Amino acid sequence: MLTGVRYSGHGHGTMHPVTDTIHLIDTHAHLGSAAFDADRAEAIARATAVGVTRIIEIGYDLASSRAAVELAAQHPEIYAVVGVQPNHVAGLPSGWLDQVRELAAQPKVVAIGEIGLDYYWNAAPAELQETCFRAQLHLARELALPVVIHSRDARDDTVRVLRDAARGQPGIMHSFSGDWEYARVCLDIGFHLSFSGPVTFPKAADLHDVARRAPLDRILTETDSPYLAPHPFRGRRNEPAHVRLIVERIALLRDLPLNDLAAAVWRNAELLLRL
Ligand SMILES: [Zn+2]
Repeated sequence: MLTGVRYSGHGHGTMHPVTDTIHLIDTHAHLGSAAFDADRAEAIARATAVGVTRIIEIGYDLASSRAAVELAAQHPEIYAVVGVQPNHVAGLPSGWLDQVRELAAQPKVVAIGEIGLDYYWNAAPAELQETCFRAQLHLARELALPVVIHSRDARDDTVRVLRDAARGQPGIMHSFSGDWEYARVCLDIGFHLSFSGPVTFPKAADLHDVARRAPLDRILTETDSPYLAPHPFRGRRNEPAHVRLIVERIALLRDLPLNDLAAAVWRNAELLLRL
């Protein structure tokens, strides 16, 4: 296990008993991906070995959401998020939302996601993407669950929908990418910013700026495995153990001890996702 400076609690010691172990969280992984078919159990063990003791497995369609629930049932450190991602909204069966609702009632489901808009792939018409996005935001509100937002090349419309339909609702901007101006808008809506591999890239100046300025109680960390591997693994398969590199980079940017940042992120995730 990873060891470090003892963390004494700084006033919230009841939530963080003094320990020599750093606990890290990967709030966004796709361990169900075929990229892990050869070594899924080993990847989970490698994560645990470096202190990644919580992994949130994210569904992107009905089948992967069901698989996320099953994976969470098999591993104490894994929790599930269920929903339909915008690249998978074309051709949904009627009654799909009821299926998401049923999955959301399963043990260890902590949020609805990933949901949102994707104008990069444009796998479905924008109008259909928005309809499914709004339907799942509404479902999350009904179930009092947070949402995990996927937004790619769709910043303005994502903000329009969230301002309209998700204000005051707890949520995560998954793999946040953008400048401080966009970050402020997301924070103002009430959402957390989850940082992934790109924050470790040497030239990601805008993202570094956001990671420095974001309130400490609104920061989360994720890998988006098997995608978005951090420096120096860029371009290779990513895995939850690498979230440590993201935590280290943000700690460095904020001039904070690694343990303090890790503890803050852990607490943020616990509070938001009610782990
Ligand atoms: Zn994802």
